[in-house]
Amino acid sequence: MANILVYALHYDGAINKNSIGAVSEAARLAAEIGGEAHAIVVGDVPDDLAASLGAYGAAKVLRAAGPEGLAQPVVDAMATAIDAGGYGYALFGGGLLGFEVGAGLAARLGAGVAMEVTAVRAEGGKLVAERPILGDSAISEISFRSPVGIVIARLNAFEIKETGGSAPVEDLVVQYSDFSTKASMVQRGEQRGADVDIEGADILVAGGRGLGAAEGFELCNNLASAFGGTAAVAATRAVVDAGWFPYAGQIGQTGKTVAPKLYLAAGISGAIQHKVGMQNAENIVAINKDANAPIFEFSDLGIVGDLNKILPKLTEAVKAKKGG
Ligand SMILES: Cc1cc2nc3c(=O)[nH]c(=O)nc-3n(C[C@H](O)[C@H](O)[C@H](O)COP(=O)(O)OP(=O)(O)OC[C@H]3O[C@@H](n4cnc5c(N)ncnc54)[C@H](O)[C@@H]3O)c2cc1C
Repeated sequence: MANILVYALHYDGAINKNSIGAVSEAARLAAEIGGEAHAIVVGDVPDDLAASLGAYGAAKVLRAAGPEGLAQPVVDAMATAIDAGGYGYALFGGGLLGFEVGAGLAARLGAGVAMEVTAVRAEGGKLVAERPILGDSAISEISFRSPVGIVIARLNAFEIKETGGSAPVEDLVVQYSDFSTKASMVQRGEQRGADVDIEGADILVAGGRGLGAAEGFELCNNLASAFGGTAAVAATRAVVDAGWFPYAGQIGQTGKTVAPKLYLAAGISGAIQHKVGMQNAENIVAINKDANAPIFEFSDLGIVGDLNKILPKLTEAVKAKKGG
């Protein structure tokens, strides 16, 4: 029997949404391969919160006392559960911690790992993971020869499906390794920029890889400040993945969906996954140095040129107009 074990991250008395998506997906897949989806939580998790994962398809929730939010203790806990037998796969919803725990678990178990996975399917009683490659222009398919396969998804790749019910909670005794408990969590908080109300903004100045570096966002910030009011800065996934901008500002399929009065896209190519998050903007203005960039196909106004020259001029023009 190949059960699927899912790590469910929790913070501030709630289970992480991305982890809930992974539990839903594991339940769907487990049903297809004749196993069960189990979730594992680490730390101080009340019975009702742990049991609530049953509403998303977890047949059982393992709860390990210990430090939450750091990778190595979670690796210890998951390895303990998997070593006890019955698991064919470990599934993670993604995110930095998911990547860290998944990679650590793969090393600990000598297991095969698929990262940045956007879809998983069951085939012949086994799981096959799909991972976009070559700048997302092709999909590679990954199956596992190791006894345990580890699947780490891209953030928000899996949909939450609520089916109702609650799961039995089983306490798991974990012998933490010395090195796993050397670090401790001092403070946890929201990511920088999480308070920006992207969805409520009338004007969004969005930046993409064409900004060249995180510092390039200064140009977007300046323009948004010149607009004033509810203008805010947003981003593509490429720059969020590169660490140039917080995830809270990501627009698109795996980010937020917005419909501002004006969406100004600077250095954004206009990939379909970005388009689905902003195509309902009333006015779309794009600045791109490539006249053939796909974004021009759905822009109301296109400016072909270097954003490093155009954004400062636009900022000055907006300031002049506001002042006048
Ligand atoms: C399952 C899945 C989900 C995804 N979800 C999302 C999502 O939610 N949101 C999202 O945005 N993407 C998403 N993506 C990624 C998406 O496919 C693209 O890779 C991404 O949107 C590209 O970001 P970009 O436009 O910033 O970068 P690029 O595609 O690299 O485009 C950069 C653009 O900048 C232009 N440029 C370069 N220098 C300058 C300059 N000096 N002046 C003017 N223009 C310049 C270039 O001509 C180019 O068009 C997803 C992909 C997958 C597979």
